[in-house]
Amino acid sequence: MSKPIVAIVGRPNVGKSTLFNALAGENISIVKDTPGVTRDRIYADISWLNYNFTLIDTGGIEPDSGDVILSRMREQAQIAIETADVIVFLVDVRQGLVDADFQVADMLRRSRKPVVLAVNKVDNYDKFLADTYEFYNLGLGDPHPVSANSKLGFGDLLDEVVENCDPEALEEEEDERPKIAIIGKPNAGKSSIINKMLGEERVIVSDVAGTTRDAIDTVIEKNGKEYVFIDTAGLRRKNKIKEELERYSVIRTVSAVERCDVAVLVIDATEGITEQDAKIAGIAHERGKGMIIAVNKWDLVEKDDKTIYKFTNKIREVLAYMSYAELVFISAKTGQRFPKIFDMLDAVIENHAMRVQTGVLNEILTEAVAMKQPPSDKGKRLKLYYMTQVSVKPPTFVVFINDKQLMHFSYTRYIENQIRNTFGFRGTPIHIIARERK
Ligand code: GDP
Ligand code: GDP
Repeated sequence: MSKPIVAIVGRPNVGKSTLFNALAGENISIVKDTPGVTRDRIYADISWLNYNFTLIDTGGIEPDSGDVILSRMREQAQIAIETADVIVFLVDVRQGLVDADFQVADMLRRSRKPVVLAVNKVDNYDKFLADTYEFYNLGLGDPHPVSANSKLGFGDLLDEVVENCDPEALEEEEDERPKIAIIGKPNAGKSSIINKMLGEERVIVSDVAGTTRDAIDTVIEKNGKEYVFIDTAGLRRKNKIKEELERYSVIRTVSAVERCDVAVLVIDATEGITEQDAKIAGIAHERGKGMIIAVNKWDLVEKDDKTIYKFTNKIREVLAYMSYAELVFISAKTGQRFPKIFDMLDAVIENHAMRVQTGVLNEILTEAVAMKQPPSDKGKRLKLYYMTQVSVKPPTFVVFINDKQLMHFSYTRYIENQIRNTFGFRGTPIHIIARERK
């Protein structure tokens, strides 16, 4: 199951960023094996009790005054409704209830998404608690008093959030059909790819009722199978501040990637691979999703016999941490290699969910250890006892060893390569977790 997404919305200055940073705290970290990817302070992985979710701050560039506030807030709320499973609506006890709060509350209520109402800046219960009751008027249930500055009330708030993250509480039913997120920079050709697929294959109107989110899913039938495509485009029609566009595009990408099995990263061949591409790729890599890199607009590239080779090398160099990713050169204009995309999708979807028997794994482990001696330190040598696959999507293995200090990254990588030599696992990351057994 994918991790739920929780979004914070609210008027400017109610304390969204402060709350986000306080909740994220230490949790905002850069995944170590994703070099060059600095994470934006837009989303963070949070653990509370036994629950994990992704927290999103929809704030950012905000006007201080005027009519713009309301329209911007509507957009923020819309983004949250489209991308989140649970929405935290933050209000400010010191400013009290204002008209814009009612309007946003209205939108949220109509979306039928679970909403948790949090009243911020209750730094002192004696002084402010009584003032929180007026927020019952929003019709969103119990207001939860918090202080983002003083980190008060977080326990109750998070309890309420994870209660709403409970799979049974979430509307979306588990859908067996493979989900594919088309991600990439604006203008890379994401919409064109989906449109081309729509033109050539049978389109099925989504039969899942209700949420706005389904509206951005496209179901395509190919060779008797159904695929759900999640588009991350959109929101380009209005003139927006560049930073805001980028922020929304990151939010959409995180949300789409969270829900998908396989991400297709679309790169614009006329621009080559850029830093922004690497950033977007990092989001899918961190989340352990299957990965296909589609170099689009291949029809526009002047080619000689070395062009593909040069492109491949450059991409493999920049995205060295995802050497497992499949690579394909396409044109959304001509439909070049579109059948190949579907073949790749089938293979990657299968690999991402593949299970390997413990017996075979341990044959590989024994052989691997025999071929390359494990490292040692101060006379103590790494011992690898046993390995088993504990989950899929992505395939995750636990290897039992004598001492974690001795399990260097390079040896983990070596074991991974041995597994890949036998089973391939093309297109999917695999995770190896070391556990000590004394
Ligand atoms: P945002 O625009 O909603 O992201 O709001 P910010 O997080 O930037 O906070 C706006 C202002 O409110 C800042 O000056 C914060 O220091 C202040 N603030 C945030 N949380 C609290 C709180 O719990 N108590 C008090 N007293 N001030 C807060
Ligand atoms: P998105 O923002 O990623 O959804 O990008 P679009 O699908 O809107 O494409 C941006 C522009 O690139 C449009 O003008 C498309 O017609 C053009 N385009 C997209 N794919 C191709 C392609 O494969 N070849 C050519 N020549 N143009 C393309």
